[in-house]
Amino acid sequence: MSWDLVVRQKFSAAHFLEHYQGKCEKMHGHTFEMEVHFRTRELDRSGISVDFGEIKEYLRGLVPDHKVLNEVYDFSPSAENLARYFFEQIKLKYPVIKVMVWESDDAGAAYAEDQ
Ligand SMILES: [Zn+2]
Repeated sequence: MSWDLVVRQKFSAAHFLEHYQGKCEKMHGHTFEMEVHFRTRELDRSGISVDFGEIKEYLRGLVPDHKVLNEVYDFSPSAENLARYFFEQIKLKYPVIKVMVWESDDAGAAYAEDQ
């Protein structure tokens, strides 16, 4: 028995891809959406597992809103690398199983650790 919870957090940011040839090698912006999946097997007395309000506040503090991602991180800020980075941060605090980073409505990357 388990429950999966999903929380989304949008942020606007600019980036460019290093070591890449194509239109994404030039600086451009996205409204990114981070989608975080948590798994829990227990509920507390009020019937919840993780508090959405608390998680949302934590995720708001984690996303690099209105930043140039290449200046914030020491890795090439692709959706794939962002998903892995967010996963590793969130894992320290919450039972995360997957993080997706959407660059647009129809394209994104998901990161999960192999079981
Ligand atoms: Zn991009």
